[in-house]
Amino acid sequence: MTAKNGKTVALRSVGCRTNQEEITLLGAELAARGYRLMEEITEADVVVINTCSVTSCSESKTRRLIGAVARKAPRARLLVTGCLAQQRPEALAADPRIRWVVGNAHKDRIASIIDNVDGAVFHSRPDAPVWGGEAIPDTNDTPRTRFPLKIQEGCNYTCAYCIVPSLRGPARSRPWTEVIERCIGAADAGFREIVLTGTHIGQYRDGARGLAELVEEMLGLSRDFRIRLSSLDPRDVTPRLLDLVAGDTRLCPHLHVSVQSLCGTVLKAMGRPYADHESFAVMLHEFRRKAPRVAVGGDFIVGFPGESDGMFETTRGWVERIGFCYGHVFRYSPRPGTPAATFTNQIDEQEKRRRSRLLINTVRSTRRRFVESVIGVRERIIVEKRSPVMGVTGNYIRVELPETSARRGEWLTIVPSDYDARRDRCRATVVAEENV
Ligand code: SF4
Repeated sequence: MTAKNGKTVALRSVGCRTNQEEITLLGAELAARGYRLMEEITEADVVVINTCSVTSCSESKTRRLIGAVARKAPRARLLVTGCLAQQRPEALAADPRIRWVVGNAHKDRIASIIDNVDGAVFHSRPDAPVWGGEAIPDTNDTPRTRFPLKIQEGCNYTCAYCIVPSLRGPARSRPWTEVIERCIGAADAGFREIVLTGTHIGQYRDGARGLAELVEEMLGLSRDFRIRLSSLDPRDVTPRLLDLVAGDTRLCPHLHVSVQSLCGTVLKAMGRPYADHESFAVMLHEFRRKAPRVAVGGDFIVGFPGESDGMFETTRGWVERIGFCYGHVFRYSPRPGTPAATFTNQIDEQEKRRRSRLLINTVRSTRRRFVESVIGVRERIIVEKRSPVMGVTGNYIRVELPETSARRGEWLTIVPSDYDARRDRCRATVVAEENV
């Protein structure tokens, strides 16, 4: 199929889930404008990179990707957007291999920029509402079976190690009616799972209404879909939200919490002073006990300045007790311009690596315990791949199935059986095919 306007584009993303979702939405918009989305960068007229610079590791990964794209596809015109473009526009604009530099506040204009502007820098304060193009991908044209619905952007907190607020701006929420309309549009386009995304979706506000109310309204829609929540800050995990997650089968029994630490002293030093972190940990522990089928995963930072071995073990102890069923473990890396980068009591890299290994091993064993506890329980999946047939349960377990007539994007009721920890997936048997 040739591109209606003869143009081809390849998309790449580094970093957080919001970045990935944004590039998916950009792909849908460019496809709606007649662009052909190419897997191979060497086949693309234009390459768009949505960058990340939240950690020094992600920044160097981004720079390596820019270099690789420029080497492998020297004729392609390169557009760099995202947090590195927001943070270092001049440095990127000085690179002759880069045609466009587009800051976070201008992401909604990327499609028209590529179409109409020969090359330039688009940069300003990151407080404009950026919700991604209007186009909803056709489920036949995209490999994705989940629809990313961006409801929120930015953050009002000021954690001592984080540059996100300076790159994505203050917290702002997408208009309520727009969210509901896009949810209906995505369900009518055939998406069976809607993922609510944003920098901190728990900071979603529409007057007095927040995330829980929005989810309740979406669950009230007479459409065939389920909702998955993306990352939540502990300060936004309310008993009401927990009741919804544990109670409504159309809301995936899956919580991802950006915990970072479960030691009060470290949280205070991080500038994350939730009133009483202990009660938060107890609330999660209680919730897991009451709702053992709900998957609770989290982000953790190890080796934050001043974190003693005892403080680290406090966090690890809670991870074990609560039974986190997966975890993204980051070694603290100082970011220039953040208060924590100037803290004197920095931890050496070797010790950070040791703690990271320990916590990853702990999470691996709590994951095995969790998956084995839900083996034999009926779950619904959406067929994501055909050969082999694969999908993900509501509580975030990847399953592999014998052949089935169900097509990609369709529901299946399955029962997970033995867990392969090395590949982190379960085999499963089909109980019911729902679309035959
Ligand atoms: S809550 Fe803290 S870590 Fe998260 S984006 Fe806001 S400032 Fe950064």
